Amino acid sequence: MAVLETLTSQQAIELENKYGAHNYHPLPVVLNKGEGVYVWDVEGKRYYDFLSAYSAVNQGHCHPKIVNAMTAQAKTLTLTSRAFYNDMLGQYEKFACDFFEYDKLLPMNTGAEAVETALKICRKWAYEVKGIDENEADIIVCENNFHGRTTTIISFSNDPVARKNFGPYTKGFVKIEYDNLEALEEALKANPNVAGFLVEPIQGEAGVYVPTESYLAKAKALCEKYNVLFIADEVQTGIARTGKLLAVDHENVKPDILILGKALSGGVYPVSAVLANNNVMNVIKPGNHGSTFGGNPVAAAVAMAALQVVRDEHLAENAETLGELFRNKLNEYIKHSSIVKLVRGKGLLNAIVINDDEDSDTAWNICLALRDNGLLAKPTHGNIIRFAPPLVMTEPQLLDCVSIIIKTLKQFED
Ligand SMILES: *Cc1c(COP(=O)(O)O)cnc(C)c1O
Repeated sequence: MAVLETLTSQQAIELENKYGAHNYHPLPVVLNKGEGVYVWDVEGKRYYDFLSAYSAVNQGHCHPKIVNAMTAQAKTLTLTSRAFYNDMLGQYEKFACDFFEYDKLLPMNTGAEAVETALKICRKWAYEVKGIDENEADIIVCENNFHGRTTTIISFSNDPVARKNFGPYTKGFVKIEYDNLEALEEALKANPNVAGFLVEPIQGEAGVYVPTESYLAKAKALCEKYNVLFIADEVQTGIARTGKLLAVDHENVKPDILILGKALSGGVYPVSAVLANNNVMNVIKPGNHGSTFGGNPVAAAVAMAALQVVRDEHLAENAETLGELFRNKLNEYIKHSSIVKLVRGKGLLNAIVINDDEDSDTAWNICLALRDNGLLAKPTHGNIIRFAPPLVMTEPQLLDCVSIIIKTLKQFED
């Protein structure tokens, strides 16, 4: 069988099922093309993408400026490792540090790696700057967090499916309720060994939980009071998704450590990064940490182009405007709906909660019907459907999507 044979959807699904590990449960649709807000399946049917690869494709599928930056660099130099300098990394680091207003950047590839990097930096800072006794540092995390899939990260997850039979787990994490400032202050007051507070500005995977207004600003103030690093995981919420460049910008919060991934590359290449100022980042010395692919010239070229697109095309402003419109339109519908409980979110990171049990298959069936009607979304946690289209969407396209969603929901009303 030729490697690049044209497959039907059924054949492609069967191949993955037989030869791929079963670590995902995809919606049955097989895509082979993307452009802007659209993707196409192998049978040629076009869909609106309302997941954007978990907010990696904020700049739209196959953005020509990003793809051109990647292919040009790929023809010139792809990888040197950090054993040598390359002429792209420094330019990218300066570009991103200016863009996000930090002193320094540490380049990695995936979101989980960037989270791991942030945790390591935080611990090292705790011992070398804050003065905590070695091996005693704790990092506060939130219930229902999602920070990736490595052994350490799942150690402080409370998703049983992500954790079970992957122990023993990494120590040094204290879990508190999300969006609860009293719990945070208690955890800080009770424990002089706290080094950092790791938080998602909006909990995306958990079901797009937006914390109470001023939660982030007050949490940051508490971290300052107790000399603890505020670490923002903006892998999903960052890069214009929520209507600002970063979700913390809604509350004018400057994290001590900022974690980025996903849309940092516009979804064309795995690029992640940790940003911090010198007082924190300078704890990292040669040999302390690294990655063969991290900071490679293709990643550098891609990330610069991807960030330039966010700025040039005013994606944050567009996400803010269209997000308002989206929630207003859905709220009008939900007033008279028995199948949808509510819509929530910020910018173009939104979710609806289906009026059924978490273990029902209603949300899944709605997503299958959305697919049939030309729009792709995926349930999270059983009865929640996340809606996160590319940020290059236009208002007429968004209104078209709203009518597809409402038409589909009507099929499920009783
Ligand atoms: C997706 C995600 C990650 C993990 O990123 P990967 O690239 O899948 O490793 C970490 N944190 C948050 C908030 C995410 O949404």
